[in-house]
Amino acid sequence: MPDGFSPTVIRETAPGFAAAQVVLKPRKARPFYGRHPWVLDSAIARVEGVAADGDVVDLLTDAGKFVARGIFNSQSRIRVRLYTWENAQAIDGNFWKHQLQTAIELRKQLGLGDPTGAERLVFSEADGLSGLIVDRYTQWLSVQVTALGAANRLDELVAILVELVQPRGIFIRTEKGVATAEGITLRDGLYWGEAPTGPVFVFENGIQYGVDLAEGQKTGFYLDQRDNRRAAASYFRDRKVLDMFCYSGGFALNAAVHGHAREVLGIDSSQKAVALARANAELNAVSIARFEEADCFKALHALASDRRRFGAVILDPPKFARNRQSVDEALRAYHRLNRLAVDVLEPGGILVTNSCSGHVTRDDMLYMLLGVAEQTGRPIQVLETRGAAPDHPLGVTCLETEYLKCLICRVV
Ligand code: SAH
Repeated sequence: MPDGFSPTVIRETAPGFAAAQVVLKPRKARPFYGRHPWVLDSAIARVEGVAADGDVVDLLTDAGKFVARGIFNSQSRIRVRLYTWENAQAIDGNFWKHQLQTAIELRKQLGLGDPTGAERLVFSEADGLSGLIVDRYTQWLSVQVTALGAANRLDELVAILVELVQPRGIFIRTEKGVATAEGITLRDGLYWGEAPTGPVFVFENGIQYGVDLAEGQKTGFYLDQRDNRRAAASYFRDRKVLDMFCYSGGFALNAAVHGHAREVLGIDSSQKAVALARANAELNAVSIARFEEADCFKALHALASDRRRFGAVILDPPKFARNRQSVDEALRAYHRLNRLAVDVLEPGGILVTNSCSGHVTRDDMLYMLLGVAEQTGRPIQVLETRGAAPDHPLGVTCLETEYLKCLICRVV
């Protein structure tokens, strides 16, 4: 046993204090002193004491020194998620309340509290709440749980959210892959309070959208693109705009309303998305936008062979890289897609290209564009490099929270 390591002490555990100790392998402690919140199974030497999934545990160096306190899950590759680096701090109701209050306070400082609007109140690791995402749509909350520890404490977390935000209802959304990876068995749907009678109508950038909290994609709307939709629109005056992967029409409607585009065509492969986009256009009395159901790759091929040209193309595809191993394949798909977009762009056209794959970096996207520029012989100028809206902050202690890259470019 290494020097300074005391054998397991069986102690009475107060609520929120450790049930067991997770001991790191030698030389593995550095990222956790740096407050990275994910302890992977590969960094762990052994567990001292008995830890059930969802229990609070202490993380110790191989010499037995306290590093941090977190929640254990034997079913996840992220064996321990860390929440506090203070030995005296319990992970209990008061702790959750403090973290949630701090996160909500930040959004107030950002000026996002419009009661008719929508915002991300809690963004997981970036708010010191690994495994918990909370979006507000007017008086409803949509909670996405991505950690077993948060799922096991859902009643407690929901009670605090009710006290702090006083919503009319709270919905639960889980991503299937994530739930399986964590061993979460929550059912999606209304968890607390009342359900709205239909879609919830929210304002964003002065445009109104119907959001389907029970059935919509993700938590119902892509809030991270709020500022990018507005920024992109400012380049679109009098242009023909193609909004690829349009979902409920966010970029398309900003192009029409704020951008004064000449006409807008939105395309998405989901029939539901196209129906939502059409309904949202009607809701805002936008008559210059059309929406069609199609695969965007096929649609771009067809538009190119019909010699159709646009003054601007927006590409906002779903995540192409699910893990590190699929980055090369994802980059080839981004290349194909962006190449097709350049083919339908008139000279001097605007390309708004996005990637929401966390494993694909900003530099990867720039090199991908370099490849497209070389292949097409058309120089590409990046006018703005943007990320997610500030209610989706980037936590520097967990760089995995940087995922959205939005590049606004001019294609010569
Ligand atoms: N731009 C949207 C968000 C896009 S999310 C916004 O601002 O809200 C990605 C969208 O791509 C989803 O709506 C999904 O239905 C759609 N999608 C996924 N694969 C597709 C494909 N091959 N062709 C067209 N649409 C696709």
